[in-house]
Amino acid sequence: MAEENQGNSESKPQTTDRKPNTNNTNSNRRPNNNNRKPNGNQNKPGDKPTGNKPTGNKPNPNKNKNRNRHRRQPTPVDENLKKFVTLNQEGHKQRLNPHYKLDLNSTAKIRITPLGGLGEIGGNIAVFETEKEAILVDVGMSFPDEDMHGVDILVPDFSYLREIRNKIVGVVITHAHEDHIGAMPYLYKEMQFPIYATPLPLAMIGNKFDEHHIKEHRKHFNPIEKRKIYKIGNDFEVEWMHMTHSILDSSSLAITTDAGTIIHTGDFKIDHSPVDGYTADLHRLAHYGEKGVLCLLSDSTNSYNPLPTPSELSVAPALDRVFAKAEGRVLLSTFSSNIHRVQQAIQYGIKYGRKICVIGRSMERNIEIAMQYDYVRFPKNIFIDADEVARMNDKDVLIVTTGSQGEPNSALFRMSIGEHRHIKIKPTDLIVLSSRAIPGNEGSISGMLNHLQRAGARVHSSKDIHVSGHASIEEQKLMLRLVNPKFFLPVHGEFNHVMQHKETGMICGVPERNILLMTDGEQIEIAPKYMRKVKTVKTGKTYIDNQNNHQIEDDIVLDRQKLASDGVVMIVAQVDGKHSKMTMKPKVTTFGIVADKQDKAFAKEMEDILENFLIHLKDGMIENSRALENDLRQIVRKHIYRKMKKYPLIVPHVLVS
Ligand SMILES: [Zn+2]
Repeated sequence: MAEENQGNSESKPQTTDRKPNTNNTNSNRRPNNNNRKPNGNQNKPGDKPTGNKPTGNKPNPNKNKNRNRHRRQPTPVDENLKKFVTLNQEGHKQRLNPHYKLDLNSTAKIRITPLGGLGEIGGNIAVFETEKEAILVDVGMSFPDEDMHGVDILVPDFSYLREIRNKIVGVVITHAHEDHIGAMPYLYKEMQFPIYATPLPLAMIGNKFDEHHIKEHRKHFNPIEKRKIYKIGNDFEVEWMHMTHSILDSSSLAITTDAGTIIHTGDFKIDHSPVDGYTADLHRLAHYGEKGVLCLLSDSTNSYNPLPTPSELSVAPALDRVFAKAEGRVLLSTFSSNIHRVQQAIQYGIKYGRKICVIGRSMERNIEIAMQYDYVRFPKNIFIDADEVARMNDKDVLIVTTGSQGEPNSALFRMSIGEHRHIKIKPTDLIVLSSRAIPGNEGSISGMLNHLQRAGARVHSSKDIHVSGHASIEEQKLMLRLVNPKFFLPVHGEFNHVMQHKETGMICGVPERNILLMTDGEQIEIAPKYMRKVKTVKTGKTYIDNQNNHQIEDDIVLDRQKLASDGVVMIVAQVDGKHSKMTMKPKVTTFGIVADKQDKAFAKEMEDILENFLIHLKDGMIENSRALENDLRQIVRKHIYRKMKKYPLIVPHVLVS
């Protein structure tokens, strides 16, 4: 009561004047702190010693008997209470450091080698390896840089997998995003292993196998049940734990070998109110944390974000507002894999009496799979085909489509430039972009927005209509605290993301020496006693042309880069072999080097160079046309670099007669 009264008397003036009150609080606190020592035994360290307050401010009973200095006399220590403080302190130590449960005498060790996904966004693939066996975790693809002309996707270099092929006993998948399964068909065309995953990733991998005409590899599927432990090979035991993320049916993994248990979060956020109600299985993570975890690999994508990642459900009010206001058609675009977003959009479409038209191959396919496998349920009669849209009242239509990144082949982009067969953009249309720009796509998105707005449509793309699928700092902390790992490897993300995640790891009690920042190709060895880098293996990217799903050789891409940045010079010359003289003027063709009007002058320069070259030619050189052309290429290259600071492709043809 005394405390409450005190609190009330404090809070009253607080409303009128804050500053002096803060001081008041401080001055009140000070004597309490002084009291903490003698009385602190009754309180856990860190607790506000509220119980002390009345004691500290309770001079009344002794007022008459004691003077000030007597009040400072410590009250006697209750040895029994003190004993319990010690016991609890010991308990905290054990709870926070369960690693004594790891078998420090064990000689078992495990090696982890990321072959993609570190120092980059996407392309996730990692090898977990014991002495005799290995498993792969995820086999993802990534997107090319802008200067990789004609390259649609990047697939990890499989060189190391070829090397250890006979050790690999299985492929383990965390979730169905492209950057975790996109390279599966390319791997399986070359080598096959049992695939372990939950149903949605398997269904999506199955679709890929069908597209790549390797249907038969579906026989490697091993669907798994979450919360069960699967033995893979002789050395690995793996459990899939349900995780929330921007795609359904995601998992974290508990990978146990003789060396101990490693927790791999996969991509995750901690969504306490996911659309399907299936929250992250924090209990299993805590279970392993309690048992003692050797190492944690955790998603670093949002490691800079200090604000908690909002629940997927939080976009609902914004969607509702959008649909309530829309007067014409609504065209909503999001990542086709974000089924819960699509589901919410469709629900609001239905709420406002709209029929749903799904356009875009990946969107159609993903909704189909999600419905086939009962992840979502919609009445069948709400869907209409694209060719029916024109006959409908605009207010009765919701178009759900791909193209939120402004991809030139996407349905929305084609609509924006008036090239879609069934849908032409109208001024009454409302375009809703329920996504964020993936870094590097800002330009193409902006281009598409220009087209859409030129066609008169309104575009809605405010922040409240999208949430991230990745954990921010606070959720990363929760993961670290639940799992309580001895060693910590931040994964998924560029170096600076991983670096930031390391800081968070240290805040959450992992000593700096127990955290390593990996890069692709670095092999880390972990044993209960230590973690260290042991070697580096070959990594890189294979370029893929999506039109035919074929590989593009590296040199082709290099040539394209050169052509794009520095142009090309072609020189055809006819030479009299006996006299080392040109029999006619050389033919010089250039692209991307000099303007048309300077063509002649440039051709003359080349002619002079060639003449000079022939005069100074060494004996016998003329017979070796390859060496001749090589030498000529060098000379032309030097000349052009001196003049223009460019290294174009130089294609000389010297015909000797
Ligand atoms: Zn993901």
